[in-house]
This record gives sequence, structure tokens and C-alpha cells, in this order.
Amino acid sequence: MTQKTLPFSNQEIEKIAQEYGTPFHIYDEKAIRNNVRRLQTAFQWNPGFKEYFAVKATPNPHILKLLAEEGAGADCSSLAELLLAEKVGLRGERIVFSSNDTPGVEYRKARELGAIINLDDITHIDFLAKEAGMPEMISFRFNPGPLRKGGNDIIGNPEDAKYGLTRDQMFEAYKKVKDLGVKRFGLHTMVISNELNPDFFVETARMMFDLALDVKKMLNINIEIINLGGGIGIPYRPEQKAVDLEYVGYRIKEVYEEIIIPAGIAPVRVVMECGRMITGPYGYLVTRALHKKETYKNYIGLDACMADLMRPALYGAYHHITVVGKEEQPLDYKYDVTGSLCENNDKFAIDRMLPKIDIGDLIVIHDAGAHGHAMGFNYNGKLRSKELLLKPDGRVDIIRRAETIDDYFATLDFSKI
Ligand SMILES: *Cc1c(COP(=O)(O)O)cnc(C)c1O
Repeated sequence: MTQKTLPFSNQEIEKIAQEYGTPFHIYDEKAIRNNVRRLQTAFQWNPGFKEYFAVKATPNPHILKLLAEEGAGADCSSLAELLLAEKVGLRGERIVFSSNDTPGVEYRKARELGAIINLDDITHIDFLAKEAGMPEMISFRFNPGPLRKGGNDIIGNPEDAKYGLTRDQMFEAYKKVKDLGVKRFGLHTMVISNELNPDFFVETARMMFDLALDVKKMLNINIEIINLGGGIGIPYRPEQKAVDLEYVGYRIKEVYEEIIIPAGIAPVRVVMECGRMITGPYGYLVTRALHKKETYKNYIGLDACMADLMRPALYGAYHHITVVGKEEQPLDYKYDVTGSLCENNDKFAIDRMLPKIDIGDLIVIHDAGAHGHAMGFNYNGKLRSKELLLKPDGRVDIIRRAETIDDYFATLDFSKI
């Protein structure tokens, strides 16, 4: 069970809503800091551990900055994400560039910043060499394909994923870059997403440690960094349980001691690229009930829409909803909670049991801190909302203004009409 709480009182959030206007995303700085510290502590047995925050989850420089202050790096996969990392002062090996289908300009920027480049395919070696030159260090993304039964088969169906190199290609790729003069080597994978079973991460680590050992045996190459990717899930539903990070860290340490140490290939830096679990639970979409409609079903229309949070519409994802001030009331009304897009899937919840909602009620949609604002879009002329940061002392900073109609029209030239 996960208690769905709010980091502000009802009076506080009402005051913030009146001051800034709804809808907005608000992030809880203190909780985000504590959370990334907890992940780092769980892996402090590995002196080289680093969390490279997956920028795509919450691409706001204020969030990146506070994570950087905690020692985190950035995992980027586009030019804009590299620039965001650069602007908050991240450089060199505090950036991992884990991209796919990458244009030359992005490799050039990653090289300029000295980022660790993680290649997604064997053919990208020549592409990188031609477009940006070979760096001293290269990492490759491993796709384990159909996994053995009884072994790592719990990890999923990586053979359906567009990412990464096959096992045979991994060996060929390391040999090739070594021949091209690369001196330092990384190994990466990202085979799971939004996973709540802690053992999946331990099994991923085992698979990766075994592979590092095989690379050593077959090519006499020492892997310096093993990047386990992201994918730690969050309990979107109250009945789900958060991943026990201390358990994951401890069990991966055991596997490290079982495989890496006896093989004499220690020290290896173990790193992660979590996005969702770092910010997801600590961001809230705050919106107001704008309309109430009773037809074949009962609808509550909000002043937010799927441009503010598209996960429910995109994957039918559950996001918990709190009606501010009605926490103690019985959940005896069944609603579809909708946005305003001319798309019938623009719904934050379908057939959700909630307290009776009145027009003007403040509605908080939980777990919107990752892939929430970030996935925003302008379909139907909808504008992305503002982002606020709740500071540890209770103050609120605006960390991104809302889009305006002028932003929407900025790419159009009416003089040519
Ligand atoms: C999306 C992504 C991540 C982060 O995944 P989460 O599920 O947010 O932890 C890490 N690495 C890569 C390469 C990704 O594409």
C-alpha cells in the first residue's frame, strides 16, 4: 500500500492556486532531494555510483540543477536535453548521451561537452567517427533479445525493442572501437520500464556483470562503467508498493561480490539512469473543476487536458486523484474526469469513484512529476501549463511560465498570407 499524500495543506494549495491560476504542475523540492539521496545511499558501496537523471522525465533546468547539487548527472538523448544539462553546469562525464537514431549535430554537441556517448548500434561507430570523431571512451547499449527461460526471462521481451546491439554485435563492436583507438569502455542496457519488482533490477545487474566478464575473457577489455539504465517504477495505484531501493542496492552489491570481484575486474562503476522514480511521485498536476455534465455518464470537465498529462489517454495509465478538502468524504460518485480536447480519450480517469465534485473544486492529480508536463503538446491549440517548485521552506517559485497564445503563433508568419 502507498499512502497518497500531499506536501501542502488545503489552505496552502488553495492560496497557491489563487495566486498562480490553474492548471499548473508543482514539484516538491525536498522530497525530490531526499529521494535521489536515498538512491545514492543504496549504492554507496560502489564508490563510482552515479545517478544520471533521465532528463526527458522532467526537462526543467531548475529540477536538473537541484539534482546536480545532490551529485546527480544527466542522461540525455537529444540536442535540447544536452543543452539543458550544459546550462545547469553539467559537463564531461556527468552527462551520458544515451540516444538512438541520432543525427550528427547531436553527437557533435555530446563530444563538445565531453559526455559519455552510449551507442545504440554497431553501425553508429562509423557514423560517430565520421560526424564527430571517436572519443577516448565509448559505451554500447546491450539488447539481450529473447531471454533464457529460468534465467533472466523475467525481464520481458527485449527482442521487440528497437534499442541496442545483439550479444554478438557487442563483442564485435568493442573489438572495432578498440582497434580505432578507444581506451575506455562502458556497457549499458535499459530493458525494463516502470517496473515495481525489485528482483528485475538485480537480474539485470547479474546479466550485465556476466557480460562484462565475457568481454574481459574474449577481448581482454576492461569495462569501466556498467549502466543499468532506468526503469524503476512508481506505485501509481495506492495498492501498489514502491521499489525498495535499499534492497536493490544491497542485492546488486551481493551479485557484484559474486561475479565482479572474484573475476579480478573490479572496480567497475555501477551507474543508473532513472527518471520516473526520481521526480514522478513528487510532482502534482493541480487543476479545477470547470464543468459538470450528466448524460449517459457523469463527467467532470477540468481546466487541464491531456496536453498537461497524457499518460492516462496514451496508455490508459492510472493516476490517483484527490479532491482538495473532500479527503474525508465517501467515494460515492462515479465520474469520468475529462479535459477539453476534441478527442474522446482526453480523460484523466474513467469510472472513478470520487467524492461529490462541485464546480470550482481543486483537483490534484498525483504522480505527474515525470512524463507529465514533459509530454505536453499543442494539439487543438492547447497551451502547456506552468511549472512551480515548492521549496523546502514552503515558498513557491515559478520555474516555467505557461505558454501564451503568442508562443503558439510564434512559428507562423501572417504577412505571407
Ligand atoms: C527513458 C529512459 C531512461 C529513464 O527511464 P525511467 O523509466 O524514467 O527510469 C533511462 N535511459 C534511457 C536510455 C531512456 O530512454
